[in-house]
Amino acid sequence: MNFEEIYSLNEIKNEVEEVVFQELEKKLNAISDEDICKCKDCVRDMACYALNQIRPRYTVSLLGSLYTRAETDTLINDIQDIVGKAIEKISQNPLHNKS
Ligand SMILES: [Zn+2]
Repeated sequence: MNFEEIYSLNEIKNEVEEVVFQELEKKLNAISDEDICKCKDCVRDMACYALNQIRPRYTVSLLGSLYTRAETDTLINDIQDIVGKAIEKISQNPLHNKS
């Protein structure tokens, strides 16, 4: 067993990721496919852009969330804003050529 396996380090998760992905899905579903590119590259780029701007909250999932309700509410508001900006920015300047 290697170090990662001995300590089950893969069980450490960034709690922010799940919220960002859910928010991204919700927001993209509300936008028509004709209005923006939703290819794999663009959507992953949006996710990375948003995640890079939010301080990660790593926890061991078995222990549950360490964050208070108040922090969670603010965090969710921040994530909604940042995901909105990520979609706007990437859809206006996709890494690939515009079709
Ligand atoms: Zn694209």
